[in-house]
Amino acid sequence: MKSWWQRRSVRFRLALWYAAATAVVLIAFAWFVYEVIEHRLGADLDRQLRSDFELIEAQVDLDADEGARWNVHGPHGDEANAPISAWFDVWSENGELLLRHWPFQKANANNVLPPPRASTLSFTTVELERGLFVRVMDGPGQVEGRPVLIRVFRDETEMRRTLGEIVKVSMLGFPLAVALAAIGGYLIATRSLRPLDAMARQARRITSESLSKRLPNPNPSDELGRLATVFNDTLARLEASFAELQRFTADASHELRSPLTALRAVGEVALRDGNDPAALRETIGSMLEEAQRLTDLVDALLTLARMDATKADAPREEVNIAALLGEVRDQFEVLANEKRQTIAVMSDDNVAVKADRTLLHLALVNLVHNAIQHGPADSRILITAVRSARKIDISVKDNGPGIAREYHQKIFERFFRVDKARSRAQGGAGLGLAIAKQAVERIGGRIMLENNSDGGSVFRIQFET
Ligand code: ADP
Repeated sequence: MKSWWQRRSVRFRLALWYAAATAVVLIAFAWFVYEVIEHRLGADLDRQLRSDFELIEAQVDLDADEGARWNVHGPHGDEANAPISAWFDVWSENGELLLRHWPFQKANANNVLPPPRASTLSFTTVELERGLFVRVMDGPGQVEGRPVLIRVFRDETEMRRTLGEIVKVSMLGFPLAVALAAIGGYLIATRSLRPLDAMARQARRITSESLSKRLPNPNPSDELGRLATVFNDTLARLEASFAELQRFTADASHELRSPLTALRAVGEVALRDGNDPAALRETIGSMLEEAQRLTDLVDALLTLARMDATKADAPREEVNIAALLGEVRDQFEVLANEKRQTIAVMSDDNVAVKADRTLLHLALVNLVHNAIQHGPADSRILITAVRSARKIDISVKDNGPGIAREYHQKIFERFFRVDKARSRAQGGAGLGLAIAKQAVERIGGRIMLENNSDGGSVFRIQFET
């Protein structure tokens, strides 16, 4: 049943829901109207019975021989002179019938109704003959000061006919109204969903080649407009990542090509005129250098690709920052010594971050490596870790040339280098800071660049606590 329902189109389901809702409302309304009218007519009938009851009490005389008769000169005057329209029995207290005024010839009310009981006033409905329903009121009354039992009848035929007509009209109108509701619902749903169909057609036309196309969105504030907005935003993001991917692939190919070209050129020259063993050794040396550059580049690309592929919530552990910074300093001591640089570490006590240690280490390695590379000889590289009320701040400061403010954002993009020729000569492909940024963001931090007040640059990694 569920799958049948789910296989239907939205407009069909809407139309059916609409029809079902209309049916429920109609049934409830018809039932309510029927109940109200039945109650009103019933109350009218009972009121008439009560007034008949009073009239009878006033107009009936009792004979000396205990018989009862209708007194035309009773206190109700003219009203009483009219032929009485009510049907009634008058019974003595011990169950003896004193007077009967009935039009029913065939019906034997004695068979249907037992003699009235003295105690209480009661209203009942009985079927005297087939299809002849009467409302009966029994009750103790007084005729000329003597207690008697009076039973009054009123025909319910008229009331039942009225109620029957209500039922008939409802039964006839009901299917018509429900059918109209279903058709109307279907038409409204079709009309409302038409823009959705148009949207689906348009969306189908958008492929990876035409990602710049957007869905038409005449009314961004209605539901369909919001859907189109979301869709268009997604398309924009998709287009941006496609463009980024294409740029990345182009840059990566270019970067891979340069050392390969160099390798080939050096090899070819050596092959052509390389008889001198010393020259050959030099050639092999520079070929190995290019090979190393290629390896570094491929390693960096792999690191980025791995970070792209893994989920953001890497395993977190408590990382002791002072220990980590000490480790990074030891790792780079030899490299720094070559330029007579010193690496100083200053860390507040017990600074710890919940993070993936490997990623944080990777980010720091890239920053310190850059600082050594760009810092002048005999300079000092300062690595600090400070804990404040709401954040932990790790910075790597050097006295190099610094970076112009206009590049402060771009510097973290993949393959971006400020001075391409010089940077490449130093072996960089412009991936170090991109790796650092991605690693830091993976562990919930952020990375930024500031200018050092006395020249040079300060790279800052911050974690909220
Ligand atoms: P690369 O591997 O080429 O060094 P990075 O992403 O690490 O790539 O750095 C990108 C560019 O940013 C470098 O080419 C360099 O021009 C600049 N740069 C990075 N760190 C520093 C620094 N500490 N001082 C000055 N310039 C820097």
